[in-house]
Amino acid sequence: MSGNFSTQILGWFLYTQNQMAIVRFTRQRQAVLEVVQHSSDHPDAARIYDDVRRIVPSISLGTVYRSLEALVSEGHLLQIQQPGMPTRYDARLENHAHFVCGSCGQVVDVLTNLPDLVPLAAAFLPKFEISTAQVEFHGQCSECATRARVLS
Ligand SMILES: [Zn+2]
Ligand SMILES: [Zn+2]
Repeated sequence: MSGNFSTQILGWFLYTQNQMAIVRFTRQRQAVLEVVQHSSDHPDAARIYDDVRRIVPSISLGTVYRSLEALVSEGHLLQIQQPGMPTRYDARLENHAHFVCGSCGQVVDVLTNLPDLVPLAAAFLPKFEISTAQVEFHGQCSECATRARVLS
């Protein structure tokens, strides 16, 4: 009988605990990804948390943030950053533009065939390595424009 037996058991136990934690995190991360994939309006972390809690009631806001971070770094989600607004998440990975309403902040996809802007910019900036381009249109959505007209 090896004297290391209890150490082995402990090792196995820690390994199992670790594997269970990984499986749990993988499941939670999958739920986070599905929530973003099923919403078309580029939700922020707080909205994603509200929606994912309906599928995984025990999930914490911290886990949602960690899942989003992992999903972005693995290329499953894109981030949309607006000054003064929380980061929003996009599961549509193909090249597309966004329209941002300056009043309510909603972000809408503009699904038009965009030219590849990277080589255009690279021609202007030969000393830089440009990897991506993001096109953003700004203005007001029809509800906000109507509200502005009514109030003025
Ligand atoms: Zn608006
Ligand atoms: Zn989008």
